[in-house]
Amino acid sequence: MSGSGDYKLGSILLKKSEIERRIADIASEIEREYRGQEVVFTGVLKGAAIFMSDLVRAIGESVDVRMDFMAVSSYGDASTSSGVVKIVKDMDTFAEGQNVVLVEDIMDTGLTLSYLQEMIRARNPGTLRTCVLLEKPDRKKVDCEIDYKGFTIPDKFVVGYGLDYAGKWRHLPDIWCVVEA
Ligand code: 5GP
Repeated sequence: MSGSGDYKLGSILLKKSEIERRIADIASEIEREYRGQEVVFTGVLKGAAIFMSDLVRAIGESVDVRMDFMAVSSYGDASTSSGVVKIVKDMDTFAEGQNVVLVEDIMDTGLTLSYLQEMIRARNPGTLRTCVLLEKPDRKKVDCEIDYKGFTIPDKFVVGYGLDYAGKWRHLPDIWCVVEA
């Protein structure tokens, strides 16, 4: 995000009800693909925590769901991609051959996701799928495969539903655009 001023909430881009409906669809797709199998859902902290917890709860008993988390160095408060991804916390366990669904809040340049995909692929998972709630195609810098996507959004800075600005607004149930205060 450019500009040096402070930001306030602008308008709602995606309502909680729309997000819930889309998550139910994605959960059904995942159930169809992984029925009867064990899958480790790996969320990228902190942004994906809320999305991931709703996603796994929308998946029925037909899938053997496991949860893990990773943390990477983030944009901090500045909101511009450095292109450098540092692993702050790795997955707790990794067994070769396991099914992994990487869960991320938003794909902006794609640098974070492509780095994490490469890293996980190098560990020889059985399958690796990537699930992203939001994609900003206008900002894409690297090609990066997404298997399950919630919404395509315009190049606007968004908060809520796990996404923050300077640590704020993650708890909001809807997704909002911010504007200069
Ligand atoms: P990428 O590596 O794809 O450029 O960046 C992904 C990360 O950038 C996301 O996980 C998120 O932390 C941050 N990010 C990108 N766009 C937004 C946005 O609109 N709002 C918020 N809150 N974070 C964003």
